[in-house]
Amino acid sequence: MSARSVQKFGDNPFEVRDTDHYTEEYVPSFVEKWDSLIDWEKRAESEGTFFIDLLRERGVKKVLDVATGTGFHSVRLLEAGFETASVDGSAEMLAQAFDNGLKHGEHILRVVQADWRWLNRDVHGPYDAIVCLGNSFTHLFSERDRRKALAEFYAMLKHDGVLILDHRNYDAMLDQGYSSKHVFYYCGEDVAVEPEHVDEGLCRMRYSFPDESVYHLNMFPLRKDYTRRLMEEVGFQRIETYGDFQHTYREEQPDFFIHVAEKA
Ligand code: SAM
Repeated sequence: MSARSVQKFGDNPFEVRDTDHYTEEYVPSFVEKWDSLIDWEKRAESEGTFFIDLLRERGVKKVLDVATGTGFHSVRLLEAGFETASVDGSAEMLAQAFDNGLKHGEHILRVVQADWRWLNRDVHGPYDAIVCLGNSFTHLFSERDRRKALAEFYAMLKHDGVLILDHRNYDAMLDQGYSSKHVFYYCGEDVAVEPEHVDEGLCRMRYSFPDESVYHLNMFPLRKDYTRRLMEEVGFQRIETYGDFQHTYREEQPDFFIHVAEKA
């Protein structure tokens, strides 16, 4: 196996709590496997037009997808007619996203490799909206990095711009302990995602595939109210939080929170 097909977490994986580690975690074999198993059509069905509706309601035309990954949201935004640019800190992700753009509707993605903490150095705005989706912001391990990234997003937006950012419901995992550690099966496929370790500073997720290969991601467990407070403190005026694409939370705990933060 080549070095880039193996994830490196060292002797004590629970001590890997570093913002810069994300580019090491998305090794090509993991990314390819994920992409080949997750059916984009099913994913689009389960998400519906939630994000597209939010953006259209606000008259958004130009969107910056800052967590492009393999391109799912960028392609959906292009298909919905938004002028979209696609940012990611990982060159490998962007290469895969570019291929996926061609594969899904012959879209030529406008990709820019940039780290959120220095976004305005590499990308020229302003944009009407920024989306940071698919549990991505959770990769930042220090509060300083989170504040810096949010400040860069804020500066990249027009005076009345909007930031849409989601993350897993870590409150449930932290507060309800092991009982809440259910396995998430993706889009009916056999990809199983489950927390292997959770404390206030780390959520280590285990991804198991049908061919028995296993990968991990180390993430910071963002609490809902903490994330809302950080957004307020960098200057966003109004923040609305949705649970699993719903205005009102379902009776059982939602898996994801989605924050819609407005500048004006
Ligand atoms: N939005 C996509 C989706 O839902 O399929 C991809 C989400 S993936 C979980 C998170 C992405 O965020 C990765 O592609 C990773 O490279 C990127 N990322 C993490 N930290 C970053 C940072 N500090 N700057 C730029 N990109 C970052």
